[in-house]
Amino acid sequence: MVKKHNQVFSPIKHILLILLLKQDIKTFHFYNRDFEYFNDPPYHCLNPFSDHYMERVIEKVDIIHCSRIKKQIGLFHCNCGFSFTRKPEDDVNSIYQIKSVGQWEPFFEKIESYNSLNPSEMERLNDLKQKYINYKIAKKRSRPKNPNVKEYREKWLELMRKYPHYSSEKLRVIDHKVYTYLYRHDKEWLNKNRPKVKNVGKKEVDWEERDNNLLLEVKAAYKKIMEKEKPTRITIYSIRREIERPNYLSKKTLNKLPKTREYLNNIIETVPEFQIRRVHYAFEILQKENKTITEYALKKAAQLPTHCDQTVQDEINKILSYHQAC
Ligand SMILES: [Zn+2]
Repeated sequence: MVKKHNQVFSPIKHILLILLLKQDIKTFHFYNRDFEYFNDPPYHCLNPFSDHYMERVIEKVDIIHCSRIKKQIGLFHCNCGFSFTRKPEDDVNSIYQIKSVGQWEPFFEKIESYNSLNPSEMERLNDLKQKYINYKIAKKRSRPKNPNVKEYREKWLELMRKYPHYSSEKLRVIDHKVYTYLYRHDKEWLNKNRPKVKNVGKKEVDWEERDNNLLLEVKAAYKKIMEKEKPTRITIYSIRREIERPNYLSKKTLNKLPKTREYLNNIIETVPEFQIRRVHYAFEILQKENKTITEYALKKAAQLPTHCDQTVQDEINKILSYHQAC
């Protein structure tokens, strides 16, 4: 053993040391080309970052068929998380393909930064770098295992483009099939590609939509109140009585419903405003009944106090002078 116990090697030292070992590896007594496939177990772990590099720690080999080279190769999986394949005719220290790097990924990711001044070491290091690049390409290619994933990913992205303000929950309602498919087969991707619109639990409120709908309802309620035979004052309470969900018109909620709020501000009547409307109503009644129209009669019919708001008094005076002029 070239490794001293209790001594920690840096990954690069480890690699370089092992690269040097290559010169002697063929002399190892366990190397035997004549064996049908591979030597008897255990086999060598070829993870250059592990502390057991080139040690015989792998208990078994799986013989698999490689469709690319159309022959049987060995798949070696070490407990350290590193897996690789080797062709039967190759040296015990050669890797045909890296299959998994497990927890060692951060080390392999930095493999590009490792160099050596020794040309043969460099060649071997470059080979390992290339194997790692091939492994990453193969891993990327194999990711969408289901052929429909690509199609559904596209559909989902299209939905997001079409409805930029919709949450996942709402998009799910629009196209349940796409959502369910991706959720089942491509969850990781789906989670990375969700709209940034926030959900408030599952019952997310689309305030704009509610505002539009409520505005129509409030307009209808206003019309209904104004059409009543006997004048009814337009207040938030009288409107609430006419709509399906009165609690939507709470003060707190109205802050999120700008169109409805503005409309309500315009139609809600102050007491003098409502009194003026009552005066007009009283005038019409008195006219219909051919009664003498005086200030007193108007005020009585409109149920107004003797002394009322100046704006109301002005309106009464206007009605009387107009009436007397006719
Ligand atoms: Zn290992």
